[in-house]
Amino acid sequence: DMPILTIDGPSGSGKGTIAQMMARELGWHYLDSGAIYRVLAFASLKHQIPASHEGALVKLAQHLDLQFELDENGLKVLLEGQEVSQQIRTEKAGNAASKVAVIPSVRAALLQCQRDFAQAPGLVTDGRDMGTVVFPDAQFKVFLTASAEERALRRHKQLKEKGIESNLSDLIAEISERDKRDSERKVAPLLPAKDALILDSTELGITAVYEKVRSYCAI
Ligand code: C5P
Repeated sequence: DMPILTIDGPSGSGKGTIAQMMARELGWHYLDSGAIYRVLAFASLKHQIPASHEGALVKLAQHLDLQFELDENGLKVLLEGQEVSQQIRTEKAGNAASKVAVIPSVRAALLQCQRDFAQAPGLVTDGRDMGTVVFPDAQFKVFLTASAEERALRRHKQLKEKGIESNLSDLIAEISERDKRDSERKVAPLLPAKDALILDSTELGITAVYEKVRSYCAI
């Protein structure tokens, strides 16, 4: 079986950073599943499909023309050949993503496209339901958390590094709204897999978390 490391957790828990570091270290493929939901929400705006139009949204999900390129600057995301890396990273885009992500038929439509990323020599993936729904048989599963305040602060810094300005108190409100929606939805709610290693990164630096994940994967 293809070795897979899943890293799930709420927004700003550091899962994206850790997942990219691990993919580099292991030389495995990388899937940012949240980017798929973000691009889908972005594409629905572009094509003027309201979230209430489930059939059209599912069609869009099935035919999403999406490309990922991982380099030393991070993940480059292209929709229909156009780079959308910056546009999909705002908290508004994250919130829009979580609204399409509650629709079960949309999640089902994205399953295969996510599973197709599992290719030799292995896959590191991050999201909300990687260890529970998309790759339930993954060999390595991590669930990364941190306090809401710490996560909002990190997101604020991260956006700033990307040249995106944000207001910290707005960010805290938006992130808690999104966390609530992700945790309370009926299908694939944000929950650790039963066999996941749970790590709280509130008091840990990125290097300490990275070391813990590395030793968990026995490297
Ligand atoms: O991880 P990221 O913040 O980019 O995810 C954006 C949104 O996409 C999440 O808030 C969540 O609603 C949705 N998502 C999901 N399942 C995943 C990854 C992301 O529902 N595996």
